[in-house]
Amino acid sequence: HNAKEQGMELNRYAHAMQMKAQERLQLENDLRKALDRGQFYLVYQPQVNLKSGLIVGMEALVRWQHPLRGSVSPAEFIPLAEESGLIVPLGEWVLREACAQNKRWQEAGYRKLCVSVNLSMRQFRHSHLLDNISGILKETGLEPVWLELEITESMTFDKDRAFEQLRKIKEIGVHISIDDFGTGYSSLHYLKDLPIDRLKIDRSFVNEVMEDSNNAAIVSTITSMAHHLQLKVTAEGVENEDQLSFLRDQHCHEAQGYFFSKPIVAADFEKKFLRDVDKPTG
Ligand code: C2E
Ligand code: MG
Ligand code: MG
Ligand code: MG
Repeated sequence: HNAKEQGMELNRYAHAMQMKAQERLQLENDLRKALDRGQFYLVYQPQVNLKSGLIVGMEALVRWQHPLRGSVSPAEFIPLAEESGLIVPLGEWVLREACAQNKRWQEAGYRKLCVSVNLSMRQFRHSHLLDNISGILKETGLEPVWLELEITESMTFDKDRAFEQLRKIKEIGVHISIDDFGTGYSSLHYLKDLPIDRLKIDRSFVNEVMEDSNNAAIVSTITSMAHHLQLKVTAEGVENEDQLSFLRDQHCHEAQGYFFSKPIVAADFEKKFLRDVDKPTG
């Protein structure tokens, strides 16, 4: 390469970086307005008990309908919302919406199910978290046992702080699960003391459980550990029958994944799952 070519290369790179930064800034601006403009909505994915085949719950997952880009993935905007602090009001909106929807379904007479809501690090650390949760439960009239909050291993890194926060949440009767379990770096030393109810095995292990014997070993070890610690265990990302029967053999309690359903909007969830809530799935 001569110097001129190298210079042009660098220029293109700098330009691309600048575009990226601008795009990001734009997205962040859009994100700030999105809450007021009602551009967020929730989708629900069923959680199935593997013994009975019945639906026992659903995870609420947020979606952003961007006016120009269409549906933006939470993988893209949750980190942005987290950095900008917007995750706190957004997370509160998600929690309120999920609790209100669950209560509406209960009042419609469907068998009671538990709704799971993801918490982000910033939300979890927020000093008003407990007040927010109890306020929303009171407001919506949902009994605490029908709410489960999902945290990740990294949130338990500051053990004393996490312990305190989790204890308070559990005290009001809300359940807690560890999401994406196995991908973080929590030590078993932490785990044994944490006041939690459930481990959710990360879908990367579940997805390749039939192809990769190491993944099979990991899934079966987590499941058996959960049993010994008297925790419930849910497998995420179940996509086929073989994975499901493997999980059944391991006595995994619950499963979630495209095999049962992708996350869908409330009206579809109701039509597809609640009207025949006692019909076994899968
Ligand atoms: P997560 O909490 O682990 O949620 C499960 C993700 O796996 C969802 O992606 C879901 O659509 C996807 N999934 C479920 N079953 C399958 C399957 O069988 N195969 C495959 N390939 N994927 C499956 P989604 O909805 O895109 O959400 C991604 C992540 O964004 C979530 O991972 C969660 O960490 C975060 N997130 C979503 N909604 C919220 C929210 O309201 N608040 C916060 N803080 N985070 C959220
Ligand atoms: Mg989750
Ligand atoms: Mg999560
Ligand atoms: Mg997960």
